This record gives sequence, structure tokens and C-alpha cells, in this order.
Amino acid sequence: MSNSKIPVVCTLGDGIGPEIMEATLSILEAANAGIEPVWIETGEKVYLSGNTSGIPDTAWDALRSAKVFLKAPITTPQGGGYKSLNVTLRKTLGLYANVRPCRSLYPYVSSKHEKLDIVIIRENEEDLYAGIEHRQTPEVYQCLKIITVPGTEKIIHYAFEYARSFGRKKVTCMVKDNIMKLTDGLYSTLFREIGKGYPEIEQELKIIDIGSAQLADTPERFDVIVTLNLYGDIISDIVAQIAGSVGLCGSSNIGEKVSMFEAIHGSAPDIAGKNIANPSGLLNGAILMLGHIGKNAEAVTIHNAWLKTLEDGIHTADIYDPKVSKQKVGTREFAQAVIDRLGQKPSHFAPVEEGSGQVIQIPAYVRKPVTRILVGADLFVYEPSLSANELGKKIDKVLLNSGLKLKMISNRGVKVYPDGHPETFCTDHWRCRIIDSDQEGKEYPMITAAHLLSIQQAFLNEGLEVIKTENLFFFGTERGFSLGQGE
Ligand code: NAD
Repeated sequence: MSNSKIPVVCTLGDGIGPEIMEATLSILEAANAGIEPVWIETGEKVYLSGNTSGIPDTAWDALRSAKVFLKAPITTPQGGGYKSLNVTLRKTLGLYANVRPCRSLYPYVSSKHEKLDIVIIRENEEDLYAGIEHRQTPEVYQCLKIITVPGTEKIIHYAFEYARSFGRKKVTCMVKDNIMKLTDGLYSTLFREIGKGYPEIEQELKIIDIGSAQLADTPERFDVIVTLNLYGDIISDIVAQIAGSVGLCGSSNIGEKVSMFEAIHGSAPDIAGKNIANPSGLLNGAILMLGHIGKNAEAVTIHNAWLKTLEDGIHTADIYDPKVSKQKVGTREFAQAVIDRLGQKPSHFAPVEEGSGQVIQIPAYVRKPVTRILVGADLFVYEPSLSANELGKKIDKVLLNSGLKLKMISNRGVKVYPDGHPETFCTDHWRCRIIDSDQEGKEYPMITAAHLLSIQQAFLNEGLEVIKTENLFFFGTERGFSLGQGE
């Protein structure tokens, strides 16, 4: 084992946080893990002192300097404009990959699934979590789903490199690209493209709905799963729960400069201060952290001692089952039981071996030049009183002799003009797709930015309220916008 002490930023968190952090650090200390905690204050106390982000400004320097953060769960106070500290940390520190290994510990921890052993790699910064939401009209709210090429490339590369580095055999990418052809479609395209560099790894693309159903039913068919932020958030809790308990899994949040390690569960205020919480989630987070900072031998020793403790039937209340458990213990006693088993290996479970899991490197993102051609605009109009046909005819009139034409109007994504169906329900929010009417024969001829400005003015002159515009581009020969249903 190496002797150098590595500084690690630690925070006690809220609720059960202090108890499980104390238990975890006592095990790391006993295993001579060689880390030096650098304490920062976060969470409820910081929020309630008037800091809406839950982290004091001084903490950022500590994080930048140590680059490694072991975080106990924190409580986000309800209401009051308090921002989730987790989301702030992920985005501010560029923690792009959330990695959650989850395995079944059957028969020692009750689970319907004996063979579950899955690593979920969730994109951590983008998607609906960009938090860009607007109420655009009295009837319509919008939340933007932001998916980027560099973000997608990074997470897919990470998933394949992770699989290679940890000897995993298969990577499944879960998407909803049959509906979101551009955003989720980017995941499928890059998964296929990047996957060519990893021919030794089995690869599959799955639609998230059936994928989740199979995950809950036959999790043994999955190995590594890579997916978008929201889907990953949901399926990683499902997997933790069906593996046995959300109290058991740890997770890492990997960035290019800083990385953060934690339990997947929250601060469990209902059991705080009672010495009954299971410290395994944070301990598993700490084990991932030790691997990440190159203390693989120490990580393996602790991991094996933890497996042996569970096999010996020493269980906290959340996993206690008189059929298999031998002793119900508190948080501190569980930690002591792990300490007592340092150096021992499990006999039922395969012992964890040293050697796997080097620090994962992914290629730097290279921006590729691409031609951008402006071909039109979607003007979103607030109009509570006109029907689709009335609105369409009014816009047709506005655009007469302008060199522009209304290609279609859609409402909630469904084409309602021209040739809409009387059954389609319409809100007060209309998307009016405007393109150039010259160069007949070309579906999307080029258009100028000056054209687009002039239409907005023309709409305004006729009392049509444009609440948002979205330019339509081709990127090379690829259409950069979806068609309306029925367009
Ligand atoms: P939770 O995970 O805290 O608790 C859910 C249930 O699981 C509770 O019954 C709890 O007692 C139990 N539980 C959780 N961890 C356990 C453990 N280690 N041992 C035994 N039982 C355990 O989820 P919640 O109740 O929805 O959230 C409570 C607070 O935690 C909220 O303020 C939420 O915002 C916060 N939270 C923080 C994080 C984080 O910091 N990473 C994550 C999720 C939730």
C-alpha cells in the first residue's frame, strides 16, 4: 500500500450525513487509505444562512486544489429559491459522467434478482437538467432539452473506456430516438460511430421504455448502460432498488479536473441521529474514490471486507432479514465489523481483484467545421381566439408578395394548417413555419436573416404576437429541425 496522504475535500452533509461520513472515514483510516480530509461546510446550514446555492464561495478553492470530493448527502430546503447543490456542483465543476455500479448481494440482501451486476453511466450536465424553463403563453410551459455534440461524445467515449478498463463485456445505450430524432438521435448516431473503435465490446441500442421494463424484469441481460441525464436518473434508482436497497450503492461524478464521490441516497432525515443508517452507500462512494486516486489496493481491501461483513450476516436495519441476517447492528457497529474484517475476503461472493480500473482517459473533443444554411424560421405566436384556419389565412395574407410563405402551422407539434383535422385540440400557442417561396421545387430554399426580421415586423403590424422564434438550419445536407407531425 502507498504511504502518501492525498487531500480529499469532505463535507458532513445533513440528516444521516455526519453519521455515515464518520463511519466511512473510520474504515478508510483503519485501512490506512492515506487520505487527508479537508473539511468544507455545505447544505442546509449554508442555505439557511442566506446562500441559495448551499455552498460557500471559499469552498470552490478547496475543491479546485484537492480535485477530489467525498460528499455526504445534503438536504435541499423546500421552496425559497434554493438551488440543488448537486446540480450546481455537477455543472460548475464539469462533472460530466455519473457512474453508478450496482450489484445484487443475494442471498445476503433480499432481491428478486440474483445476478444483477450493472453499471449505469449517466450524462450529468445536460438534457432537461439545464433548467431552462419558460411559461410562454397562459396555456403553455416549456422546458428545453439541451443535448450537445461534445457532451454526447464525452459520455459515450467514457462508457466504452469504462467497459474496456473494468473488463465489462457489453454497453447498452438507452434512448428515445424514435420520438426525439435529433437530440436522442445524436446519442444513437454517436454510439454507433464511436462504438466502431471498441469492436471487442458487445453493443446494443435500446429504446428507454422497453429497456427500463427489461431492466426491472431481467436485469442480468445488462452490463454497462449509457444514457441521457433524465433517463439515467430514473433507471439508476430503479436498479439500486431492485438490487436490494438504495442505501447500498455509491456513485462517482467524474469531471476532467475535479471528481465527486457520494452515496446515491439522500439525507434520510427520518432516521437521522439514531445510529441506524446504513453507511454502505457512502463507503462504496469512497471505494470508487480510492480507485480514482490510484489507491486501488486499499479500495480492494475495503471492498472485500465490506462483502465479507454482509456475508457474515452483520446487517443494518434497512437490509436486516431474520432469514439470512445474524446480527442487527447500528451505523458505528457496522463500520467496526468492516474494520474487523480488513484483510479478509468473501467466500460466497467472488472477491474483488486488484488490477482493474485505471483512471479513464477519453479523447479531447475536436470541433468539426460544418456549413450552416438558413432555410426559414418557426415563429411561435400567442393567439387565444382564432382557429387554425383563421390564423393560417391571416398569415397567408400577411406574407402575400413578401417572397416568403407559410409552410404549415402546428399546435403542440401536430400540423393543423393547411389541411388540419377538426379533432385536433389546439392551445393558445402556435408554431408557424415560414420559408422562402422563391426557388419553387426546392423544399427548403435559402433565406436571409433580413427576411426573418421583416416577417416579424409584418406579423407585429397585423397584431400577431410572436413570443419566440427558432431559426431553421441545414447543417451540410442534414436537416437541423424536426418536421411537424403530419407535415
Ligand atoms: P432519501 O434517500 O433520503 O430517503 C428515502 C428512504 O430511504 C427513507 O425512508 C430513508 O430512511 C431511507 N434511506 C436512505 N438512505 C438510507 C441509509 N443509508 N440507510 C437506511 N435507510 C436509508 O430520499 P428523500 O427522503 O427523498 O430525500 C431526503 C432529502 O435528501 C431531501 O432533502 C433531498 O433533497 C435530499 N437528497 C439529497 C441527495 C444528495 O445529496 N445526493 C440525493 C437525494 C436526495
